[in-house]
Amino acid sequence: MSKQVDIVIVGAGFAGLACAKKAAELGLEVLVIDRKPHAGHSPHTTGIIVKEALETFPVPSHLLRKVEGIRLYSPGLKHFDLASPGYYFMTTDTPGYLQYMAELAEKAGASIQFSCDFQTASITDSEVYLENLDISCKYLIGADGARSKVAQTFGLSSNSSFLLGVEAEYRNVGRLDENRLHCFLDSELAKGYIGWVAPGVNVVQVGVACRPQYKPALKPFMDKLSTIFDFSNAELVGHRGGLIPAGGKLKRLAFDRVLLLGDAAGVVSPLTAGGIYPALYTGHDLAEVIYQNLNHGGTAPAECLHTLYPDYVWKAVLRLMLDYAPPNAVLNHVVFHPMFRALAQTVFFHHKGLFSSAAWKDILFPKTVMGS
Ligand SMILES: Cc1cc2nc3c(=O)[nH]c(=O)nc-3n(C[C@H](O)[C@H](O)[C@H](O)COP(=O)(O)OP(=O)(O)OC[C@H]3O[C@@H](n4cnc5c(N)ncnc54)[C@H](O)[C@@H]3O)c2cc1C
Repeated sequence: MSKQVDIVIVGAGFAGLACAKKAAELGLEVLVIDRKPHAGHSPHTTGIIVKEALETFPVPSHLLRKVEGIRLYSPGLKHFDLASPGYYFMTTDTPGYLQYMAELAEKAGASIQFSCDFQTASITDSEVYLENLDISCKYLIGADGARSKVAQTFGLSSNSSFLLGVEAEYRNVGRLDENRLHCFLDSELAKGYIGWVAPGVNVVQVGVACRPQYKPALKPFMDKLSTIFDFSNAELVGHRGGLIPAGGKLKRLAFDRVLLLGDAAGVVSPLTAGGIYPALYTGHDLAEVIYQNLNHGGTAPAECLHTLYPDYVWKAVLRLMLDYAPPNAVLNHVVFHPMFRALAQTVFFHHKGLFSSAAWKDILFPKTVMGS
């Protein structure tokens, strides 16, 4: 007879592990499977988290580095600084962070099986059966990333709009203001997104992302930056990169007892490409919904997903601005217009609601912001 659990989660990333921890804490029997050999192996993400993520889901301080502001550069490499009193971002030791999340999930009672590939599954009367593992579950969660096999298997929606990011990790980068996340607008080298230099935990992360058809090129980007930073003694210690869903929440997120979560559901800000915080809180909330359904006859999770996951309507509209950014010569001027600065401030710091009335006020009546 096959083994039975309440939930099988495919993917031990931020979404899958957050969901596993909460579900196990609620007393559900949870199995997480991941094709990687261990948690945090070869992460694809830069791993920057917003203040709210840290406040809701604490992380040990040795895995974090606080960055208090953004330095936004025009294509001509002039810049201005953005900050908001009391607000900050955290760069992370991303492999360590994911290992920590896996430990928390296991401590709560979840089992995690690494080096285990999801291949296929079928729905029986009231269960989902994973043939190659000989396991049945009441709910199968596809938290298996941007190109979800779970979504494909059950005919659910799949991401079709992406950004492609590449990143290199260095030690010994000189002339770096370590209290800033350095963001670079460039319609040629980062078409559809930005380039960045992030002071990480024990490394400096240098990356660029763009629409996949333009292929992000790190070398020309770094050559350009060599007038700002000193890479002459920089030691390359690692690479990251991968596809970022950029089309917003997908339409068909569930089939019966099969549910998509995180990148697999397209739950990533189409504008900032931030997916970690939404992965954490939607994973947590989905566990709660499943628990209520299994134990107290609450609404079927498949019916709740669209309300549970964020819509990103305004961020999807603003994404067009990045997709159709003007040529660099024009961008060099636009960037220093007070309304652009105010918009940038809103995008990075209005976490209570992009285009809330407060945000509109800031954009339409911009205050002076520091620049140079
Ligand atoms: C270059 C880059 C930079 C980014 N930077 C940031 C950032 O700074 N901040 C931020 O908030 N967001 C960032 N993002 C987005 C963010 O990383 C994702 O939104 C987030 O990691 C999504 O988590 P997830 O758990 O849904 O998916 P993933 O992290 O992709 O995890 C999916 C897991 O599923 C496993 N898996 C896949 N298929 C199978 C299978 N068939 N069988 C078993 N296991 C499987 C994978 O091994 C993986 O462990 C970035 C993304 C990229 C690509």
